Amino acid sequence: MSLDSISHRALSVIPGGVNSGQRRVPGLEQLVITATRGATFTDSRGDTYTDYHAAFGPPLLGHNDPDVDAAVAEAAAHIDLMGVGVTQAEVELAEDLAALIPSVEKVLLTSTGSEATFHALRVSRAATGRRLVVKFQGCYHGWHDSVSMNVISAPERVGRVDPISTGILPEVLDATLVLPFNDSGAVRRAFAEHGADIAAVIVEPVQHNVGCVLPVDGFLQVLRDETTRAGAVLIFDEVITGFRHALGGWQSICGVTPDLTTVGKAIANGYPIAAIGGRADLMDTFSSAPGRPVFFAGTYNGHPAMVAAARACLRKLRNEPVHEHVFALGEQIRSGLEEVFSEAGVPASVAGYGSVFVAYFMDGPAPQTYTDLLRNDAAMFLGYRRALMRHRIFELPLNLKRSHVSYAHTAAHVDELLMASRAALRE
Ligand code: PMP
Repeated sequence: MSLDSISHRALSVIPGGVNSGQRRVPGLEQLVITATRGATFTDSRGDTYTDYHAAFGPPLLGHNDPDVDAAVAEAAAHIDLMGVGVTQAEVELAEDLAALIPSVEKVLLTSTGSEATFHALRVSRAATGRRLVVKFQGCYHGWHDSVSMNVISAPERVGRVDPISTGILPEVLDATLVLPFNDSGAVRRAFAEHGADIAAVIVEPVQHNVGCVLPVDGFLQVLRDETTRAGAVLIFDEVITGFRHALGGWQSICGVTPDLTTVGKAIANGYPIAAIGGRADLMDTFSSAPGRPVFFAGTYNGHPAMVAAARACLRKLRNEPVHEHVFALGEQIRSGLEEVFSEAGVPASVAGYGSVFVAYFMDGPAPQTYTDLLRNDAAMFLGYRRALMRHRIFELPLNLKRSHVSYAHTAAHVDELLMASRAALRE
């Protein structure tokens, strides 16, 4: 049976045919990946693509980093799952995270970013005794109720979200207030009206689930000031920004310290481990809240092989010029693409930070709000990315998705991308 038929078999046994977010990308059903290596992947037809999608972001070091993979194999050979007590490696990873991330005094490990943000919201409600969670239009924090994909984008859902028939509890949606990103006035008004009911504000400090929208000056500080004044919890969801932009997360760049932080993705270069950390008094609510502590569990939390992956990844991020490399390539890509689009007379603005880049097809400067993003010409965006695929370059053809460069990408890859972009625009 040919490998391509796998996608057909998948449709009969896996709803939608895939397990990741790709189900919503028409035309990608046939993409069956057979190998990944460094900056590339190969599909079942034997075509090798330079990969800028990077599985939504984890492999900052590149696919199959030999040091991370060796650490996983070594750990797995000695210990698989315990489910009791802790290991030394687990404690050392927690110590490292606490040392690196300004807001973090205590840490709990989870397997995914969604679990980390879920626990962050839950502990915020328990600690404040309040219901409401403020989130921002365009921000994504995982698949669970209240901050799920269903409430990220539609402009009519700004304000209180109507219960919808997606299997999400209406009560949870009703306890979610969705505000425009980068709009300090809207935040102040929400706190003036609902301050006494707000348990937490959760934010991607840089909005990467709609490409790359940087926080405007002062916005994150307003979140800090308003939450402090109202006695609410400020959560930075650094699942993307965390290790990709800096070891200490965006908070080490912007100087605003949240109460709780979630990290994942690039923390272990593709292995499933994430974490929630923060102020000791809040984190201790998980183990010793008066009355009843907030329940925390997970069969795979602190899995030795995943902890080994994170520690090996962290070691490499510390000891090798990973951030310097990806930042330099990211800059070359952004300025190169600006040139390519302007030469071709295409109205586009190239946004990004560090290793992240995205071209929005719209006039004017890089967007600052979700309303700006609605001006993106989705057909052009998807057309451009589909044309890149013909040149064996993969950027996810899904509207507003960011692209990532890794430590395994080289200047030759950048040249190839710019050349392919020139050709794609001609096509
Ligand atoms: N937070 C952010 C900012 C994310 O981008 C994501 C995933 N894209 C999550 C949380 C959820 O993480 P996971 O997919 O590991 O559950």
